[in-house]
Amino acid sequence: MASVLVVGCGVFGLSAARELALKGYCVRAIDVYEPPSPWSAANDFNKIIRAEYTDMIYSKMAVEAINLWRTDPDLLGLYNECGRVLITPREHAGRKKFEEQGIQNLRALGEGQRVEYLRGSRALAEIHPQFLHNRLGDEHEFKFNPDSGLGHASNSLRALYRRCRELGVEFTFGEEGYFAGLQEQHDKTYVKTAAGTSYTADQILICCGANTDSAVDLNGQQSATGLYVAHIRLTPEEFARYRDIPIIFDSDMGYFFPPDPETRIIKVALPGTGASRLVASPHEKDKKLSLPRYKTENPRDTMPKHCYGELKALLSKYCPELAYHEPFNAKTCWVGDTGDSHFIIDRVPGHKNVFVATGDSGHGYKFLPNIGKYIVARMEDTLDPEYAESWKWRARSSFDPLAMDWRVAKEFPDFGDIDWWVEPKMKL
Ligand SMILES: Cc1cc2nc3c(=O)[nH]c(=O)nc-3n(C[C@H](O)[C@H](O)[C@H](O)COP(=O)(O)OP(=O)(O)OC[C@H]3O[C@@H](n4cnc5c(N)ncnc54)[C@H](O)[C@@H]3O)c2cc1C
Repeated sequence: MASVLVVGCGVFGLSAARELALKGYCVRAIDVYEPPSPWSAANDFNKIIRAEYTDMIYSKMAVEAINLWRTDPDLLGLYNECGRVLITPREHAGRKKFEEQGIQNLRALGEGQRVEYLRGSRALAEIHPQFLHNRLGDEHEFKFNPDSGLGHASNSLRALYRRCRELGVEFTFGEEGYFAGLQEQHDKTYVKTAAGTSYTADQILICCGANTDSAVDLNGQQSATGLYVAHIRLTPEEFARYRDIPIIFDSDMGYFFPPDPETRIIKVALPGTGASRLVASPHEKDKKLSLPRYKTENPRDTMPKHCYGELKALLSKYCPELAYHEPFNAKTCWVGDTGDSHFIIDRVPGHKNVFVATGDSGHGYKFLPNIGKYIVARMEDTLDPEYAESWKWRARSSFDPLAMDWRVAKEFPDFGDIDWWVEPKMKL
């Protein structure tokens, strides 16, 4: 059977490696770190799994993914269908349209019948008494979708990694797994590593997430965006009260999850679209490119100072009794944004058998159970043309964060201009 080298073992890489191994390919996979890599956008307690999308291809894929989250034996126990409350300010017309279309798409697929439209503080407290003291305006509409929830992100990467090993995928990590570039030699493409070694295979699949651009020229199609999260830890008594809350997604103020049962930690994701980090392009002279820089190497990359007050305001609005908690482990996580939020899953021009699967645009995690199937279909030239068209390599495209209604953009600073919050323990 043909051999495939998978470069990058995050969501797209592990999902594809499992699918390839199940189909009998001889698979080697490399990464800088063993999964869950601290560089992976999905090395985290939890991520939202929802099926509301404006574009039908993702609606269909997300419905399929949710069914797999419920049934895939490799991922059992890692999906918590806690539901999601969605609150959007009236003035955010673009975001409202996005949500409305998302629900219409679901209904067209015979799903979403349990989505409820509700209004005001009392209605929220009635369906979720933990939010008895919430400060939602009386006129404020919100939606509750019980058919969505969270995936335990880092544990699900661990689970697929384990499964891939059982299926015979060979892994290499460290310098020897650190992708440094492609090289053509004797009509073959080689992946060069930071250790100076190289690998080749019948097909090469590159899935380095936000960092893909650092070693392969994506021709301006992707831009790394840093998003911020921080955490609070509940007392055992608070945990007992809040363990069964849904995800609260306030598209203006940020969102938070139920506490993690192992650690009692609540993850809070902070509002806005994040930041870019423009550096000299490794591919084109005099051009700039946004590339990630990770907290493993830059421990002071926490969150902007203003996020501290925003985190407190979010908690005060929905569960004021938790707002006294001090945040910790604030960090910037990186996604690979594209101009239209479509993934890029295609052959890399100029190389015979090299593919990329990247451009996650901050919404790729939920597809962990099924994105591999679509990536492998593209490699085998059997992908549905509608999907292939949406994910095709575009000659030149650009990314404008302020044009993305669905993310409710407020500002989009460069990394160099951020005034970082200093975690109290870091001051010592
Ligand atoms: C704050 C935040 C919140 C999010 N929330 C959600 C959500 O609620 N729902 C959802 O569906 N999605 C969410 N996402 C997006 C989701 O996490 C990503 O879409 C997904 O992780 C992308 O998968 P990937 O495989 O492309 O990249 P990643 O998962 O980031 O994996 C990339 C891998 O490549 C490796 N790598 C990088 N450079 C190299 C190199 N040079 N050599 C070798 N290996 C390398 C890394 O170590 C890593 O393992 C969120 C992302 C962030 C940052």
